[in-house]
Amino acid sequence: MATLTPMMQQYVDTKEKYKDALLFFRLGDFYEMFFEDAKTASRELEIALTSRDCGLDEKAPMCGVPHHVAETYITRLVDRGYKVAVCEQVEDPALAKGLVKREVVRIVTPGTIMDGSLLDEKSNNFLASIFLDEYGAGLSYVDNSTGEMYTTEFIGEEENSSRFILDELGKIMPSEVVCNEGLIRNKKLVTVIMDKINPYINALDDLSNDVENYNELISGFFNDKNIEIERLKEKIYSTISLGKLLNYLKDTQFNAVDHIKELQYYEPEHYMLMDINTRSNLEIHETMRSKEKRGALIGILDKTQTAMGGRLLRKWLEQPLLDKKQIENRLDMVEFIKNNPFHLEEIRDILKNIYDIERLISKISNGNCSGRDMVALRQSIENIPGLKGVLLETNLSQFVKLQEDMDDLIDIHTILNDSLGDNPPLSVKEGGIIKEGYNEYLDDLRASKLKGKEWLARLEAEERNRSGIKTLKVGFNRVMGYYIDIRKSSIDSVPENYIRKQTLANSERYYTTELKEIEDKILGADDKAIQLEYELFQEIREIIKKEIERLQRTSKLLAVLDVVLSLAIVANANNFTRPSLNRKGIIDIEEGRHPVVEATIKHQLFVPNDAYMDTRDDMVHIITGPNMAGKSTFMRQIAIIVLLAQIGSFVPSKRADIGIVDRIFTRIGASDNLSQGESTFMVEMNEVSNILRFATPRSLIILDEVGRGTSTYDGLSIAWAVVEYISDKIKAKTLFATHYHELTQLQTKLKGVKNFTITAEEQGDDIIFLRKIVKGSTNQSFGIQVAKLAGIRKEVIQRANEVLATIENSHDINMDEPVQKKNQKQMNLMDYRKDFYIDRVRNIDINGLTPMDALNTLNNLVDDARKLKE
Ligand code: ADP
Ligand code: MG
Repeated sequence: MATLTPMMQQYVDTKEKYKDALLFFRLGDFYEMFFEDAKTASRELEIALTSRDCGLDEKAPMCGVPHHVAETYITRLVDRGYKVAVCEQVEDPALAKGLVKREVVRIVTPGTIMDGSLLDEKSNNFLASIFLDEYGAGLSYVDNSTGEMYTTEFIGEEENSSRFILDELGKIMPSEVVCNEGLIRNKKLVTVIMDKINPYINALDDLSNDVENYNELISGFFNDKNIEIERLKEKIYSTISLGKLLNYLKDTQFNAVDHIKELQYYEPEHYMLMDINTRSNLEIHETMRSKEKRGALIGILDKTQTAMGGRLLRKWLEQPLLDKKQIENRLDMVEFIKNNPFHLEEIRDILKNIYDIERLISKISNGNCSGRDMVALRQSIENIPGLKGVLLETNLSQFVKLQEDMDDLIDIHTILNDSLGDNPPLSVKEGGIIKEGYNEYLDDLRASKLKGKEWLARLEAEERNRSGIKTLKVGFNRVMGYYIDIRKSSIDSVPENYIRKQTLANSERYYTTELKEIEDKILGADDKAIQLEYELFQEIREIIKKEIERLQRTSKLLAVLDVVLSLAIVANANNFTRPSLNRKGIIDIEEGRHPVVEATIKHQLFVPNDAYMDTRDDMVHIITGPNMAGKSTFMRQIAIIVLLAQIGSFVPSKRADIGIVDRIFTRIGASDNLSQGESTFMVEMNEVSNILRFATPRSLIILDEVGRGTSTYDGLSIAWAVVEYISDKIKAKTLFATHYHELTQLQTKLKGVKNFTITAEEQGDDIIFLRKIVKGSTNQSFGIQVAKLAGIRKEVIQRANEVLATIENSHDINMDEPVQKKNQKQMNLMDYRKDFYIDRVRNIDINGLTPMDALNTLNNLVDDARKLKE
């Protein structure tokens, strides 16, 4: 019977251990893939599929890539959502007895990519670990390319845990998730995660949830140095998710994790919360339609000079602050730079010269850095003393403090400066890295190489003389070494002692014993020099590796400075002003603008609008107005101004006083979500249900045409009941743009509800948008005029006008009708809420509760039941 060849057996055994990965199997100068892997890779990489004898009757499908370009192919596969296991020859094939030993030395996954062109330099690439069960959830995540690691947790029933997970994932948008079975069992959550985030998901089993073990693992990993570890001992969910993350990192990175030094524990509610829908509705990172950065808020805000700054700006936007002092601290810095153009220029010019220190040091730490990376690091930290000088000069306490905290890294610079030349090659194994004067022996070796060159020149001159051949030349190539080249025409004059080496078309090549001696000296010195340079380079790398924490700390401070600078530049360029902040829940904006719309309609003038909201008389704004009037823009601009204020940015308005909000919710009616397998209306109601559950008096709610997804009366009734519930119970500041003109009646029925309309004027058949928001309401929708603007055929427009006239005459629209229907319709909403309630009771696992849990659960249920009845 046919059996596999030993090498193929080795392949199959290795593959067995890495079933979920494509195995890159090193054979000489190539990485080869076999069988199914080969088929997949040849398809994805568009490389030829061949085959190889494997000992069996049928040949094994095979494809391969040269080792020196493998990185590009690996990254491409990982980008397509594959894992790649890289299997190397771990002994010198020349010395191996029999089969060369091979081992998998790293696994590249979407969430662990270290470098490569596919990482966006201004975004983090997170790998997240989630642990979920019926009492809570833990979430830990790491950016392997920068070394930062975070953990958080939530205790509560599963529905709320799911919300927590989604909100946090929406913030960090991981490219890969490691999770337990508990999460996989929650089909609904998994579907949403796949739909909105689409990470590569690894499900691990639930066997090892031993918190004690994980505690030890974590302490060991961080050498007990990190203060967060003590706090973590109380946080079981965090601990489990973190333990699983560390294990996964060890499994895939084979201990190349020394650059991960710092762990940060945080509570999500210490920041302003926004769910994933809100983030996309406000178009913070990308536009809703084209998913592009251009046209999104970040496109306006990001004037950062460094990659670290770019990433931090995104973090600030993802986690707006709640603390007035902290916000004002940032605002002070932004204001100072904005008002000091001289310092602004100076700082910008310095930051421009700073490379991505965070990613550079991760590469250095993991040993896959080049001489160029080290030089980039040196050039970056060269700028720090100068920068500190500028910061000190500002005399602003925040900057003075920042420069005090900023390590000037002079010792590291000295090491790099003494040792590294300016233009090292890409490869670390060709020499050309180490500077003259750093190492005496290296200098000697180089000198003898140089001397060898002199000898050669002399030899050439002497041989020309001796032989009388004017065209005699000493040359070199890698295969042949040094030779004496003689043209065919002069061959008769070749001296006796020449030994033939090679015959070419027009010349013969020779050597002499003397030439051979010089060659040995030159090449020997060269080999030794290259080897020595490599060793010295490793030495320097190890020295730098010990200083990673200092480098990381400094790059964090550089990032802060860069973000502040960017906000100042943006404030200048877009005429933003400093907001004031209050804790009274008042949002008072004079001449506010939508920064992105303003920037995109350049040729027209953006019409600024005022807004005043509080938690008493001006709580809920019902906004009516024709299509295209600017309702959505107005509401979003308020949310964006609040968001900007809370990250410490200036805002697009003449004046703004912002009551700090704990959450922003935005819901857009009729947004199509069929891909999630739920009807649009169901999705809309899901979102509304979340608002009713989670909004507080300190929240800002934006409802844009909610209720559109069902029949008019249904939709209106739900909208009506929602406004009632918000103004009576939640008391959150709310902007509600609606096409249900009937809702404007609520102004007289409910305290805190005010009507607004965005003005437009009819001129004959045409419409002019004035875009000013004023008190009052309108029931004109100008739909037909908008249709005309959009270029619908004249006769259709004419006919529509006729139909409209008939309808309006025959059908006096009865404003009170929905009010009469109100009670019945409100019951519908009650039913929704009851259903949620019943589900919760039904899902309680009585056997799994401690007496204390049981009491708490009961208490919560009673609370909610009372609320439901109210
Ligand atoms: P609505 O929600 O009322 O249908 P939008 O808010 O979507 O209207 O606005 C439609 C378009 O009108 C926007 O894309 C923008 O180009 C323009 N627009 C909105 N508000 C303003 C404004 N204040 N000034 C100038 N143009 C505006
Ligand atoms: Mg709109």
